[in-house]
Amino acid sequence: MADDASDILEALIGGDSLSAPEYEALLVGRETLQARAAEAANELRLRYFGNKIYIRGLIEFTNYCRNDCMYCGIRRSNPNVERYRLTSEQIYECCEFGYGLGFRTFVLQGGEDGWFNDDRLVEIVSEIKSRYPDCAVTLSVGERSRESYSRLRSAGADRYLLRHETANDWHYSQLHPSGQRLSSRLRCLKDLKELGFQTGCGFMVGSPYQTLGHLAEDLTFIRSFCPAMVGLGPFIPHCDTPFRDLPCGDIELTLFLLSLVRLTLPKVLLPATTALATLDPKGRIRGILSGANVVMPNLSPFDIRKKYLLYNNKAGTGTESAEGIRQLSEELGSIGCEIVVDRGDALT
Ligand code: SAH
Repeated sequence: MADDASDILEALIGGDSLSAPEYEALLVGRETLQARAAEAANELRLRYFGNKIYIRGLIEFTNYCRNDCMYCGIRRSNPNVERYRLTSEQIYECCEFGYGLGFRTFVLQGGEDGWFNDDRLVEIVSEIKSRYPDCAVTLSVGERSRESYSRLRSAGADRYLLRHETANDWHYSQLHPSGQRLSSRLRCLKDLKELGFQTGCGFMVGSPYQTLGHLAEDLTFIRSFCPAMVGLGPFIPHCDTPFRDLPCGDIELTLFLLSLVRLTLPKVLLPATTALATLDPKGRIRGILSGANVVMPNLSPFDIRKKYLLYNNKAGTGTESAEGIRQLSEELGSIGCEIVVDRGDALT
């Protein structure tokens, strides 16, 4: 094990696999290492993706949820949420609008809503794939059976996002009620990968009770799972959850983790997330300069955006919205990047 944090960082940049204690040493030494990590991560992004940034159109199609995640604003026991479900037609309209703007990936995200059983979701996925054969469909609808994932995959779904949230059992149990278990989340992630989905895991930075040791475990988990995508953004409290009074995750630490993920998995698809952009108006750009290569503007119908509030002040307008694509393009142009009209599949 390299003894000094900057030696450890150079080892990672050189392609070495790090242990959890080594990752932890990097996290402890973040302040002095961050600029070098970002520079090397940005170089890797350029090497594998050039100046191209992939865009994904996010369609938040239901905020009904059977789960009760402590951090999430649309948790089952929040009575103050006005619940909604988009109709199939509304979902297709979002795709139509997005296609015209240049989106070639649609991300269907929602709470775990039993109304969208396999038959209904299969029909929606098949319809989108038949209307837009040149587009990828990503699902982000939580934990389901292997059988269900298999049917969705056969219907044409290409990718699946399911953040592991934390790779530490104890920490997972602080963030979720006892019925929700890390082991079942990991079972889902394994199934998704085996079924041929381009699979994404990920976590929040600064979630309650999280330590740097937990984050080091997240990084070793990510290295061994080797996902096609990693979603990570700062925790932001929501006023109707048990975590309402807790502080937001740290922006700098989030940026550093983006760099460490890029250095760990050079070809990974790595979004600069909405949560990051919510805390920092320059969050998207700073995320990209730290190694991110994907942005996911909101394609949901305008009037429902304020109902899909996972956390307070969630950004959903301006460059966070599909309508803001021109402005986003200009911002990206200012750092020499450009949006591509492309499915933006995982590199093999
Ligand atoms: N029901 C789906 C989609 C969840 S929302 C699923 O379970 O996968 C997508 C992600 O938003 C979650 O995985 C979580 O990491 C993030 N999120 C939820 N609440 C948040 C909060 N308060 N702050 C920051 N991110 C949050």
